[in-house]
Amino acid sequence: MRIVSACLAGIWCRFDDERIVDPRVEALVAAGEALPVCPEQLGGLPTPRTAAGVVSSEPWRLINENGTDVTAQYLRGAEETVRLARLIGAHEAILKENSPSCGSCKVRVADISGPRREWVAGEGVTASMLRRMGVNIFSEENWLGLTEGEIAVETPAEGD
Ligand code: SF4
Repeated sequence: MRIVSACLAGIWCRFDDERIVDPRVEALVAAGEALPVCPEQLGGLPTPRTAAGVVSSEPWRLINENGTDVTAQYLRGAEETVRLARLIGAHEAILKENSPSCGSCKVRVADISGPRREWVAGEGVTASMLRRMGVNIFSEENWLGLTEGEIAVETPAEGD
């Protein structure tokens, strides 16, 4: 069983009000092989919401474009996602790259004046917590699929 970023399954949950869909992820959910989760919604943030970025990861600190500290919401969403991953016995997660929650190779960063339109190598809060509990983390950019259900496909989703 897998956790997947809900936005990759076409769920309306992105910060920028856009809907994206990765047909591979949508197919996994339709087959009952993946649970779609949006950590930022689980953390209590609205959709759409103000873009945020990672200031630091030890300890975690995230701020949004208004300069508001949203660390508590991001941490809560990550913790709830970890709880769901435990409940379903998730062994793998396919998470949206570039997100300050779901990014596993690149994340949006921020400094004290707010998030920059810039992505750097690193992990988001949720990706980091899931990895630390032993879940294999992939993004829509590096997941090759086909380990459950032989569900093929090609189309990567656009950046967060
Ligand atoms: S990248 Fe993660 S936090 Fe952002 S909209 Fe998608 S599921 Fe939600």
